[in-house]
Amino acid sequence: MESCIVIGGGIAGLTSAAYLTKQNIKVTLLESSPKLGGRAYSFTEQKSNDVVDNGQHILMGCYSDTINFLKLIGAKENFIYQKRLCINFLTQAGKLVRLKSFTSIYPFNLIFALLNFKAITYTERLSLIRFVIKLPFISHQKLSDKNIRDWLKEEKQSDATIKSLWEIIAIGALNTNIDKASAFIFREILMKIFFNGNFASTIILPKNGLSDAYVKNAKKYIESNGGKIKLSSSVKEFIISDNKIVGIKTAEEVYKDFDYVISAIPFYAFNNIFSELFWDEKIEFEYSSILNIHIWLKNNTMKEQFYGLIDSPVHWIFNKGNHINLVISDADYLIDKPAEEIYNMCINELIKYTELEESDILHYKVLKEKRATFVPSNKNNYIRPSSKTKIANLFLAGDWTDTGLPSTIESAVKSGRVAAELILAECQM
Ligand SMILES: Cc1cc2nc3c(=O)[nH]c(=O)nc-3n(C[C@H](O)[C@H](O)[C@H](O)COP(=O)(O)OP(=O)(O)OC[C@H]3O[C@@H](n4cnc5c(N)ncnc54)[C@H](O)[C@@H]3O)c2cc1C
Repeated sequence: MESCIVIGGGIAGLTSAAYLTKQNIKVTLLESSPKLGGRAYSFTEQKSNDVVDNGQHILMGCYSDTINFLKLIGAKENFIYQKRLCINFLTQAGKLVRLKSFTSIYPFNLIFALLNFKAITYTERLSLIRFVIKLPFISHQKLSDKNIRDWLKEEKQSDATIKSLWEIIAIGALNTNIDKASAFIFREILMKIFFNGNFASTIILPKNGLSDAYVKNAKKYIESNGGKIKLSSSVKEFIISDNKIVGIKTAEEVYKDFDYVISAIPFYAFNNIFSELFWDEKIEFEYSSILNIHIWLKNNTMKEQFYGLIDSPVHWIFNKGNHINLVISDADYLIDKPAEEIYNMCINELIKYTELEESDILHYKVLKEKRATFVPSNKNNYIRPSSKTKIANLFLAGDWTDTGLPSTIESAVKSGRVAAELILAECQM
């Protein structure tokens, strides 16, 4: 029986381990922290006793690899699926504007949704539709040295259209402002959202905390297929002989009995430990942070499940009944500020955009994720490595590898599936 060590218990490592154990490969997964889930996990907030995520995660219908993985581990039912696209936006005056498709006749329902997007004028909506229809015909090469703003301007998207729609979608999907993020990768995402049938553009949210939504099922699936999971096992060193990894050292143990290795740790962790094995000169990725501000309420009059905020430093509000979760993406400019200052800024925004008053608030918690995602700039896209490495039995996974997708759950799952498939193909040779 062939065997594999998977390093990293985020969703990329869990995916690799699940697909390998499915095919009877003996897997040992080593995770440095005492929990699984990596950058997508949940925990119990002490004051409220509510389970909260380290960061609200939004999935989309176009996350095909993720949905297949959730089906495999029996976790598909732990998520809420929109029947058709509906995003509620709030303007500063508290006006609700919807991007909503009514009929299910694709693609007319999406065109109809854009045509009815009342945050912008009718002429702007027509220009928006023209741009979306043109997307498949825009050459990739043309975009590989452009940022999103320059591209949108070139495509005659007005300032209002950029602010009311494109900026919110881009920052949400890429966690990077449109002056920095690559137009190339943004076009790839828009193609997946708008040109993949009805379901692709819908939003998917976990029903409960992320650890319940997928981590538990993944662990159970891997272990019931014979896989072993070792927590608090941080890999420190590879022993290499004849261009193969023959030993893996953690602080406590040396692993020698394996055929293949998948590294599914983040780029910065990989770069710290193993960079000299791979790159002649040290390469660096730029990262971007995300803030999640959880606010517990006495009264909540919000009706929708989530809202996008037009022209606000707060990008999203997720409504969980007795508490709301505000998300600020691309948050490097705020990350080192005290929690109270961030909270006060959020309260001002809530008062502008909603009917909430400060007296409705019970308590709050600010969660900061400093290296939440890598910046999908043209430079970063260019240096992303593929899963195959020059070490014969080592494969890479992780949202940062060359999946063609931004730093997302879908990229992580795709990378984990690809690394597992490469090993399975070698096993069959
Ligand atoms: C706040 C926040 C919000 C986000 N929102 C979204 C969203 O809405 N939609 C979306 O699709 N994506 C979102 N993301 C991105 C998404 O969470 C990541 O892309 C995904 O979780 C990355 O998974 P991964 O397995 O590649 O890496 P990670 O989750 O980082 O997993 C790597 C694992 O490796 C472990 N590790 C590190 N070093 C070692 C070592 N030496 N030995 C052993 N183990 C090690 C780590 O502890 C970690 O568990 C968000 C991320 C954050 C932080």
